[in-house]
Amino acid sequence: MATFYDTHAHLDYPDYENDLPEVIARAQAAGIAKMISIGTSLSSSERAIRLAEKFPSIFAAVGWHPTEVMKAPDDLRPALREFAKHPKVVAIGEIGLDYHRLPGSAGDDARYKQRQAEIFQQQIEVAIEAGLNCIIHQRDAFDDTLAQLKPFAGKVRGVFHCFGEDAGRMRRVLEIGSLVSFTGIVTFKNGQNVRDTVAATALDKFMLETDCPYLAPVPYRGKRCEPAYVKEISEIVAQVKGCSLDELSEATRKTAGEFFKKL
Ligand SMILES: [Zn+2]
Repeated sequence: MATFYDTHAHLDYPDYENDLPEVIARAQAAGIAKMISIGTSLSSSERAIRLAEKFPSIFAAVGWHPTEVMKAPDDLRPALREFAKHPKVVAIGEIGLDYHRLPGSAGDDARYKQRQAEIFQQQIEVAIEAGLNCIIHQRDAFDDTLAQLKPFAGKVRGVFHCFGEDAGRMRRVLEIGSLVSFTGIVTFKNGQNVRDTVAATALDKFMLETDCPYLAPVPYRGKRCEPAYVKEISEIVAQVKGCSLDELSEATRKTAGEFFKKL
């Protein structure tokens, strides 16, 4: 059986509090050998680490999500530096910029964006110090996110997760040494734009993820998503790439292994 990784899962969310062992068992049975539980705050990052300590197939990423920055401490760096030393912490993330929902007045919008940029910057710094790469979240903020990461190309790489941009933007991400990853959106009827980007992305430049509990692929669309469903995502991606599941497995696991060195 071709095996895959789920490189972006929110396993610390309350959605899984009653049946996480079963969720992990279904992932194993579906050939999803490793999964990364993503931090969105310090407490979420800490929960991700605890899960990684409990389950051999779970690894953790630690970081503060851009939509939560108004609740962030002034300086995130000391806590993140400590987390980053853990043997199963494989990345800093998810971090980045999100302009999808702004407060609504010009002054508040500017302050919110400024705070997002500061928190993003602090976390890029910690990633470089710790020798870890970053999991990047951006929504309606592609140019600013790329511009903020670009000066550090060569020192740190990002994976632009849940990539839904066009092939031109994908190439701009690859140009700075970063990568992209694709979710269940590739299986959606209205996901043709993402399938076009998958088709244009070289086999060794992307990874697979669920972003669970969100974005369950067809035929589970609308239900709670879980890491086992990387299987459905991989089947569509292999079709789009015109490669076998074994080739896709080998390429995406190699890419993830090089990007997340502790994985
Ligand atoms: Zn996420």
